[in-house]
Amino acid sequence: MQTSIRVGRIIGIPIRLHFSFLILLPLIVLVFAETPGPVGLGDFEEISTPFRYSLSAIAALLFILSLLLHELSHSYVAMKYGTKIRGITLFIFGGLAMMEDLPNEPDKEWRIAIAGPLMSFAIGGAFLFTYFGIAAVHVTIYGPLTILMFSIGLLNVVLATFNLLPAFPMDGGRVLRAFLAKRMQFLKATRRAVFVGKTFAVIMAIVGFMPDPFILFSTGDVRIPFNPWLAFVALFLYVAATEEESATITVATLEGITVRQVMRTENASVLEDLSVTELVEKMLAEKNAEYAVVNEYGEFKGFVTFSELKKLSVEQRYPLKISDVISSVDRMSDVISQGEEAIEALKRMVNTKKKVLAVEGEESGKIIGIITKRDLAMFIEMLKGRG
Ligand code: ZN
Repeated sequence: MQTSIRVGRIIGIPIRLHFSFLILLPLIVLVFAETPGPVGLGDFEEISTPFRYSLSAIAALLFILSLLLHELSHSYVAMKYGTKIRGITLFIFGGLAMMEDLPNEPDKEWRIAIAGPLMSFAIGGAFLFTYFGIAAVHVTIYGPLTILMFSIGLLNVVLATFNLLPAFPMDGGRVLRAFLAKRMQFLKATRRAVFVGKTFAVIMAIVGFMPDPFILFSTGDVRIPFNPWLAFVALFLYVAATEEESATITVATLEGITVRQVMRTENASVLEDLSVTELVEKMLAEKNAEYAVVNEYGEFKGFVTFSELKKLSVEQRYPLKISDVISSVDRMSDVISQGEEAIEALKRMVNTKKKVLAVEGEESGKIIGIITKRDLAMFIEMLKGRG
């Protein structure tokens, strides 16, 4: 499902807006237009509503631009290190640059991670500097334009600070891991950084449930002012930290493992002129749900899977051959060499959302087996179990 729309391309990187952004953007405009100063335009009842809302829309645009520049900075530094950027997606609470083959070197990792917050600090600093500069010259600066300047400045400083929290997937978490990784193994460094991140998330959640000290001391009121926003961010951080940990464990576990060790060679392929009815019998007999389809010369033609056959009724299946039902093939992404690293196969399956790859022999170029996501997952579990 498409969850974002593409809006353009900057320095060769496709830029997308996530739907969450499109839905909440009018809300940002509304909040900025109605909130009283010094962060909103709500106090300015003397200016017309359309003008107030236009200014608010400009603020929202500057907000998008700020997020974008933050992500572009990460991407720019990463590109300098030879990383391929698949795209930048802007979500409502921040951006995400999809990078391929991030360098596994601490010195590069922390530079990529710090570039975003530095850019946000620079933008925030520029806006706030201008704001206070004007304030020094004119005493009466309380106008809509200066409010806009102050808000965008503050927003960027908050963005930079929040991103520097030492918690995955915040940039600060990556900086922390990079510094730890200089002193210890990458996996150990990740575990430590993840622990710090989870601790932060727990503290944040506790703070979210704590009574506000000001209310407590001034009124003696101990009702709990549950802060759902803080709790939501805490949960998000906790889940993201856990994901980062398991992804790193997977990469570390598969180190040195090649496709050859994980692939299935028996009952892995079928000839394209077999009938679909025969194939269903074969699947039952061999208890397999995926096959690579080849022609009589052993050349790769595509895949056939039980989940796709299932969609056809028995009557529909009856006259068909496998060649009528194979999924379209893209040799570049569907075929992997048996000498490749297993982690490469996993990455490719994640990127292309495919559950199976065909494996070719290194010299013959013929299909000699398949590698499925399920087999790979099982293999990883077994490696972990071996210790
Ligand atoms: Zn960032």
